[in-house]
Amino acid sequence: MELNQINEQCFYFKGSVNIGYIKNEEEGILIDAGLDDSAVKKVIKQLDEKGWPLTHLFITHAHADHFGGAAYLKKKKEVKISAPELESAILTFPILEPIYLQNGNYPFKELRNKFVEGKPVTVDETCTEGPYSIGSLNVTLHNVSGHSYHMLAVQVDDVLYAADSYFDEKTLVKHNIPYVVDGTETLRSLHKLLSMDVKGAVPGHGEYEESFKDTVQKNILYHQKVEEDLLKIISREKSTSLDTVIAEMCQFCGVKIDNMTSWALFRTAVCAYLKKVVEEGQVQIIFDNNYLSYRRT
Ligand SMILES: [Zn+2]
Repeated sequence: MELNQINEQCFYFKGSVNIGYIKNEEEGILIDAGLDDSAVKKVIKQLDEKGWPLTHLFITHAHADHFGGAAYLKKKKEVKISAPELESAILTFPILEPIYLQNGNYPFKELRNKFVEGKPVTVDETCTEGPYSIGSLNVTLHNVSGHSYHMLAVQVDDVLYAADSYFDEKTLVKHNIPYVVDGTETLRSLHKLLSMDVKGAVPGHGEYEESFKDTVQKNILYHQKVEEDLLKIISREKSTSLDTVIAEMCQFCGVKIDNMTSWALFRTAVCAYLKKVVEEGQVQIIFDNNYLSYRRT
């Protein structure tokens, strides 16, 4: 976790999942807590060595790679934790993530791993979009849902901690089909980022960029391409079952599913794009011999 400075008060620890850090004289705020104890341990060590404050944690969304280290942090430091409404429910009861990933069933053992189920965290204060105070620091929270149900990006003056509202190019390509829970909201949030009046942004995965809007634009094009591929698959037959759409999309995008976690994540992502094209009237849901299926309109 290498410490990067953006300006006098804004920093971030660069890792496979970034951890933001904002400070003034007395207070220090982490934005997200990394995947596990080891990630946050490295952050605490560096801050302690510098004698910099650590008093608050803001969790942008309830994905285990962003809050897995929070329980350890709370054990080691007196931090006040804020998180978005709804996401907080999952932070309090992290089993909700494997539950929703498995369509509401009590999850299989294989789905109960640190990548999709973090350790429970007690949230001190829940929040929504708008002006917000973290200790004595005034920030603006922006709703950037789509990748998660109620993800909030944090704007500190002219710097945006964008959470997973967009990915750097490397991460986009690595994921093949980006994880989203709502295709419509994802695009809405990306367009919102394009209209933001900030100097630069740091995503959850990737680097701080002043030209982040170019990367956002690439994300929009990438999502559009995934949607086009999805429509091609659905257009081939009069009706295509959900399982066939998922399997063929993965095949087409070069994804090989061989475990429960990747099945659950890709199933959710494909369904999020399906929701978008159904809402737009491009595709219709039908029930064909008891199979939930899709048809081009
Ligand atoms: Zn995430």
